[in-house]
Amino acid sequence: MKTAEFVDLEDRFGAHNYHPLDVVIERGEGIWVWDVEGNKYMDLLAAYSAVNQGHCHPRIIESLVSQSHQLTLTSRAFRNDRLGPFYAYLSKLTGFDKVLPMNTGAEAVETAIKAARKWAYTVKGVPRDEAEILVFSGNFHGRTTTIVGFSSEEQYREGFGPFTPGFRILPYGDFDAVAEAMHPGVAAILIEPIQGEGGIIVPPDGYLRHLRALADEHRSLLVLDEIQSGLGRTGKMFAYEHEGIRPDIVIVGKALSGGLYPVSAILADDEVMDVFHPGDHGSTYGGNPVAAAVATAALEVLVDEGLIERSATLGTEAIERLRGLDSPHVHEVRGRGLWIGIELNPEAGGARQFCEALQHRGVLCKETHEHVIRVAPPLIIRRAELDWALEQIEAVLTAQPEQLTTASEAVQVA
Ligand SMILES: *Cc1c(COP(=O)(O)O)cnc(C)c1O
Repeated sequence: MKTAEFVDLEDRFGAHNYHPLDVVIERGEGIWVWDVEGNKYMDLLAAYSAVNQGHCHPRIIESLVSQSHQLTLTSRAFRNDRLGPFYAYLSKLTGFDKVLPMNTGAEAVETAIKAARKWAYTVKGVPRDEAEILVFSGNFHGRTTTIVGFSSEEQYREGFGPFTPGFRILPYGDFDAVAEAMHPGVAAILIEPIQGEGGIIVPPDGYLRHLRALADEHRSLLVLDEIQSGLGRTGKMFAYEHEGIRPDIVIVGKALSGGLYPVSAILADDEVMDVFHPGDHGSTYGGNPVAAAVATAALEVLVDEGLIERSATLGTEAIERLRGLDSPHVHEVRGRGLWIGIELNPEAGGARQFCEALQHRGVLCKETHEHVIRVAPPLIIRRAELDWALEQIEAVLTAQPEQLTTASEAVQVA
């Protein structure tokens, strides 16, 4: 079957809740993917940072396959021999006392919300049902009804109400707004240390330190959603390390399984995690032995292959190079590590056409927020490969408009 036939099947039999590029991928290896026509592309999206370790990493695949032959699911009604060692490893690696595993990122965010609220009632002493969680405009924390209820993106909410109360949206990066919003009922501040879906928005220096200080002063929890920013993407294990702070709850997902399997978790110290008692919360698949084995291998790969350091070094170089680019379309280049947003001028006509032009040059990226091209390759990328990708980006950003639409040259690269 050809691309058009696969697209047609998806359109006819699948819900239309996405608008993907029309490239049908059938194989992936490292930073490369191949479509059903045999074209080869470099993946500059890495499944929104779920594939930080590269596609089909042999060591992670091996953990999935061997564990699958052994034991796949017991539910949490019984114990399994992979969960304890996974907890211990993740705790040691990140410095938090305890782990609570889930599957998708949104479930882990929900878990953090439940933890923060219960902590507020049982430890802080907030009166029943009065706990408030401060969140930020431009946030992306997932797609459950509770979470979209505090999105500032109209489309994410429209038609899905009524929503869960208890959230207040503040402007992202505004120091005073948070200071003014603090009161005794604030259970937590929930924030992405860098907003990914919001357009790779890096807050001003000192912002996270400011939130940490406010949380301490008012005895609220600082909850960081590191589902996309964490596990090496910004050149540190966690993005909050850039500000030298430590949150009360960290939410992880995506790269926690290297793209093989949905695994997410929250990390916290005992004072917070001990609010959960048997029956308070759970998930049939959460913490299953395959998830535990895969996540352990995915984390080992990040550490053993030096991917976090690679992200820091190559990312800094790439940002500098892109900032030097002379293009009439580029408004700003920002990011941290191998997580770069190229924001285009409104007159450029949207980022999608540039992403489509890049597709014709053998590079897959996805626009975010209409005007931002996101560059976020798997962290295993080598310098020469990244150089080649940047050349392609430079070419489309300096091309004449008519060249953009006709570009369909061969997609083969070494
Ligand atoms: C992707 C993402 C989520 C949601 O994760 P899912 O696995 O898609 O539910 C939440 N927060 C952030 C910051 C994300 O990037």
